[in-house]
Amino acid sequence: MKYIDPHIHMVSRTIDDYQRMAQAGCVALTEPAFWAGFDRRSSEGFYDYFRQLTVVEPGRAAGYGIQHYCWLCINPKEAEDLSLAREVISLIPLFLERPNVLGIGEIGLNKNSKNELTILEEQIALASEYNELILVHTPHLEDKLKGTKLIMDAIKRNGNIDPGRVLIDHVEEHTVEIVLDQGFWAGMTLYPDTKCTPQRAVDILEMYGNERLWMNSAGDWGPSDPLSVPKACNEMARRGHTQAEIEKVSFKNPKTFLSQCSKFKVDG
Ligand SMILES: [Zn+2]
Repeated sequence: MKYIDPHIHMVSRTIDDYQRMAQAGCVALTEPAFWAGFDRRSSEGFYDYFRQLTVVEPGRAAGYGIQHYCWLCINPKEAEDLSLAREVISLIPLFLERPNVLGIGEIGLNKNSKNELTILEEQIALASEYNELILVHTPHLEDKLKGTKLIMDAIKRNGNIDPGRVLIDHVEEHTVEIVLDQGFWAGMTLYPDTKCTPQRAVDILEMYGNERLWMNSAGDWGPSDPLSVPKACNEMARRGHTQAEIEKVSFKNPKTFLSQCSKFKVDG
């Protein structure tokens, strides 16, 4: 089996994780810019982070035969300080031409605050100006539904964004349908015990179908499992899904969405 993990934070993972992912069949991954587990104090910290995402991490991945791509942004958790956020946004165009950058992400909302929404709108405008794909983070708290609606409204308000070029991640049972109905792509983020487990993700696939849907591990600095995608594939096999159905969500769908950026080149 070969698969793509389209949302994983490898800067927080060890070489052992790269090795295990390669052994499990990972051929490519995409890494959205996110919170590092602590707040960075200046835009220079982000400049270095963007260098890590565009220079250092692709080299580590290549050592295990995995193609590394990334997304750039200021994440919603660090967007409360408007002047810092705007300094970071001004750095992004310096990196957009790098060969592994696929678009703007993971932008979105965390606590659905006014400042988060302002910075979200400014980054949607940036994506529109540079014609970039968008990867969206939705809140993990109980107001996920409200946050998801606010984000979709902000994207539509821009007026210049094709929803087929936006992936809304961390969907759950109560948000997947409205996301797909409005023409966006949806991502299910798998966690070992909390939030969406591999078992729940397969339940969602069985209820809502497998069009415009992908699975990712989010593997980050906190409790998470970089092998979540192959584990969900095993769960699908256990329930009698065919190899073609498994490959559709673990390889074909992410490839179709990501290939809208011409830099994404994965065989098969
Ligand atoms: Zn993430």
